[in-house]
Amino acid sequence: MEIIIGSHVSFNSKTQLLGTAEEAISYGANTFMFYTGSTQSTLRGEIDDKISYEALKLMNENNINIKNVIVHSPYIVNFANRADERKYEFYIDFFSKELDRCKKLGITKIVLHPGSAVNCTREEGINNIIFALNKVIENTEEVIILLEYMPGKGNELGRSIDELKLMIDGVKEKSRVAVCLDSCHMNDSGIDITNIDSFLDEFDSKIGIDKIKCFHINDSLNEVGSRKDRHANIGYGNIGFDNIINIVYNKRLQGIPFILETPYVNRNQKDAYAPYKYEIENIRNKKFIDFIQ
Ligand code: FE
Ligand code: FE
Ligand code: ZN
Repeated sequence: MEIIIGSHVSFNSKTQLLGTAEEAISYGANTFMFYTGSTQSTLRGEIDDKISYEALKLMNENNINIKNVIVHSPYIVNFANRADERKYEFYIDFFSKELDRCKKLGITKIVLHPGSAVNCTREEGINNIIFALNKVIENTEEVIILLEYMPGKGNELGRSIDELKLMIDGVKEKSRVAVCLDSCHMNDSGIDITNIDSFLDEFDSKIGIDKIKCFHINDSLNEVGSRKDRHANIGYGNIGFDNIINIVYNKRLQGIPFILETPYVNRNQKDAYAPYKYEIENIRNKKFIDFIQ
């Protein structure tokens, strides 16, 4: 079974899509995910079509289909918070432009953390998210917004199938909204991931399995239901290597891009290195080989 697997890679304003593709290829990936700029700011440069063209050529030669490539929106966008109407509208405008940038790059899917209920109830937060999503969809074309399944840290919304369903139900143009699952987030939200099939059954009956368009594949440093959101390297956390394999090779998830968002090894040290090449290799071989000394 051919799996589509890659990792988060970094986007640089000079090398743009070409740089991201080169990094992904160096890991042996056949897809990837990136932010179009800083994760913490809304400063964004122009997309250079010449670079995108070069990148697409390289991707073509390396079996990477742009349809499987994902953009992640910055964390600072919080559509649940409407306490300041001007800020709320600023973020609607910013996120709309982010979708335009995706479209220019040929990318069809953007992941969004739905939001956090600050200065409001969870219900109000969800309604604020729905209003913003409908506006963004009105402002833009084609690109699908993937609402990420969240661990439920603090007041985070989207920590259950039911909350994601409420959001999707409120979106008028259903073809423009879908879901991105995240194994660490699911574990931390209280899902027993050793039984992925019963989760998929519930997801299918409430939302529809065809709405799963991306899967962030991370191990978790914490226990089921911890609501912590600390990603671990594959096979080094509480989910464990075999459960990760069962997810990636689940027949019902075939064709979905799996994206690693695991931490660098020896983070913040001089000898830090990316784990992705090793994690992808281990997952492809379905065999865990320790890559951390
Ligand atoms: Fe995310
Ligand atoms: Fe994620
Ligand atoms: Zn996370």
